[in-house]
Amino acid sequence: MFESVDLPSDLDGRRQWAQTMSACYETKTTETFLTEMVTTALPGQVTLVSSFGTDSAVLLHLLSRIDQNIPVQFLDTKRHFGETLRYRDQLVQHLGLSNVTTLFPKADLLTEKDPEDMLFHTDNNLCCYIRKVEPLERALSGYDAWISGRKRHQALTREDLPLVELESNGRIKLNPLVAWTHEDIENYFTDFALPHHPLEEDGYLSIGCMPCTDRVKPGEDRRAGRWKGLSKTECGIHMPISMGENI
Ligand code: SF4
Repeated sequence: MFESVDLPSDLDGRRQWAQTMSACYETKTTETFLTEMVTTALPGQVTLVSSFGTDSAVLLHLLSRIDQNIPVQFLDTKRHFGETLRYRDQLVQHLGLSNVTTLFPKADLLTEKDPEDMLFHTDNNLCCYIRKVEPLERALSGYDAWISGRKRHQALTREDLPLVELESNGRIKLNPLVAWTHEDIENYFTDFALPHHPLEEDGYLSIGCMPCTDRVKPGEDRRAGRWKGLSKTECGIHMPISMGENI
C-alpha cells in the first residue's frame, strides 16, 4: 500500500516525485496505480482528459470503477465527427460518469483566426493551438495532475514514455496505459463488454477531428490516419506548440 507523500511544490521536488512514482508502480497493476494516485497520492488534484476515441472507453471504465465523479475533460474542437459526440454521450451514460466537462475554443479566436473553418488546411499548428491547446490549458487550471491515455506502442515518439512524468509547467501527467498493447485494449473491451466507437469498424483506428482523420489501411500504424500525408503527428497537447506572435 502506498504511503502518501505530498506532491512537492517545487520543480526539482516534483521531478523526483514523478521518478519515484514511476519506479514504484511500473510493476503494479493499472488498477492499483490509478486507485492509489486518485484516492491517496493526488486526491482532488487530478483530472482525465479524454478524446472519446477508439481506446478511450478503457481508461474511462477503469476510473469509473474508482470514482464515477472523477473530473473528465473533453475538448470539443467543433471539428469532431458527429459519431464522436454521440459516442461521448453513450459512454457517459453507460459508465455513470457524473463530472464530465466539455471545453470549447474561444469564440473570438475562431472569428479572428479561422472564420471559414479552414485553418487546418493552411496552418494546422495554429488550428490545433486554438482548438485544443488553449482550451486544454483552461481545463487543467486548478489541477496539479492529469491523466492521458497514451501508450508506448503507438509511435516512436512515445516509446520512452514514463508512467509518471513532469511537464515543463510543473504539472504532473499520469500515463496509466503506457505498457498496454492493442491486444490488451481489445481484451479489456471484450471482458467488460464496452461499446466501441462507431467509426472503428469503418477503418478509423485513431480518431481526432474530421478534417484531419482518415481511414487506416491494412498493415498501417493505427495512428496513420491522423494528419495523413503530413509530417505532423501530434496535436500539441502532449508536445505543446508555441505560437509566438501568431496568436
Ligand atoms: S486536428 Fe485538425 S481540425 Fe482539429 S484542431 Fe488540429 S488542425 Fe484543427
